[in-house]
Amino acid sequence: MKKDYYEILGVSRSADKDEIKKAYRKLALKYHPDKNPDNKKAEEKFKEANEAYEVLSNDDKRRRYDQFGHAGVGSSAASGGGPGGFGGGGYADINDIFEMFTGGGRARGGGSPFSGFEDIFGGGFSGGGGGGRRARSTGIHGTDLKIRLKLTLEEIAKGVEKTLKIKKQVVCSECNGTGSKSGKTETCQTCHGSGEVRQASKTMFGQFVNIIPCPTCGGEGQVVKDRCTSCYGEGIKQGETTVKINVPAGVQDGNYLTLQGQGNAGSRGGAPGDLIVIIEEKPHDLFKRNGDDIIYELAVGFPDLVLGTKVDVPTLDGHVKLTVPAATQPNTMLRIGGKGIGHLKGGGFGDLYVRVNVFVPKEVSGKDKEMLKELKKSSHISPNHGEQDHDKSIFEKAKDIFG
Ligand SMILES: [Zn+2]
Ligand SMILES: [Zn+2]
Repeated sequence: MKKDYYEILGVSRSADKDEIKKAYRKLALKYHPDKNPDNKKAEEKFKEANEAYEVLSNDDKRRRYDQFGHAGVGSSAASGGGPGGFGGGGYADINDIFEMFTGGGRARGGGSPFSGFEDIFGGGFSGGGGGGRRARSTGIHGTDLKIRLKLTLEEIAKGVEKTLKIKKQVVCSECNGTGSKSGKTETCQTCHGSGEVRQASKTMFGQFVNIIPCPTCGGEGQVVKDRCTSCYGEGIKQGETTVKINVPAGVQDGNYLTLQGQGNAGSRGGAPGDLIVIIEEKPHDLFKRNGDDIIYELAVGFPDLVLGTKVDVPTLDGHVKLTVPAATQPNTMLRIGGKGIGHLKGGGFGDLYVRVNVFVPKEVSGKDKEMLKELKKSSHISPNHGEQDHDKSIFEKAKDIFG
């Protein structure tokens, strides 16, 4: 059983980034192998803290961990490097741990064995460390875009790469997103560059003054000169783009993938929003899903149930031969290993369960009828009286108990 990442760092589930950073730093410095030579326990604790920090310090990994637990993030740090950027398989130099808190952000390393996975969940936008795009203050941040992605069970079983055309706000190519033909701005006349205006409101308690973002410049303090006629000075306009979405195996209806920076473009140099892909699972004609397992309903004729038979069973990936053993009772579940849905965290597939039931024809010909009548004469083909009485007594007992 893996330890909870929040527990490892000793923080609450609602801890903010700063708390997590501080908690990690404390542990990392305490248990760093340089300070604890040949101390296996300290090394273990150091590794644990690294792994917990790698996940909880990353918004998307943390979201995934909160949603799926350890299954959602894999045990990446156990086999790869330390927190992003250290890479190399070894542990971070003690100076690096100090450095990472002084803003000397390094680009995220490719050391994670889950980097392909990371892409879909949003790690794809690396931004070169230091917290990147959110920190940009110019322009207006682009909005997030939500799309629904319908997938078949076959696609979900193995994972799929989808290329989609989506409509979204893109950077205006005429003005390069500046909103201005000349690329120049001037101080906003409404707020004189402060980006804020005062708004007085009278109430029964007297007059209040509120400070609100300037409506003319949207709080930027600057307005564009020589408005671009293509985007009306916004720097963005409606457009179309193609996105590639890598969906891992094992996703479920309602799961979502975040593609950072792939949402609507930001206005006048603002950072783009995220693209949020919500997974929808199309119902399957043949199979029902149960977690990572799938269920197939199979009807077999009475003689085959008695004597046993081999049947062709469809799977998500071709057909397989299934042996129905002799004397199989109706409602029996037969398992075909590994023919279900791939586990989200990787490492194998669920199973295909075949529920065997008896096929009863709606009509029989005169000849079949004769054969069935003949069969009826056998003393072994129907339940004997003893069994019937037994069934009845159970029923009677239940009636006594439940009324
Ligand atoms: Zn203004
Ligand atoms: Zn423009």
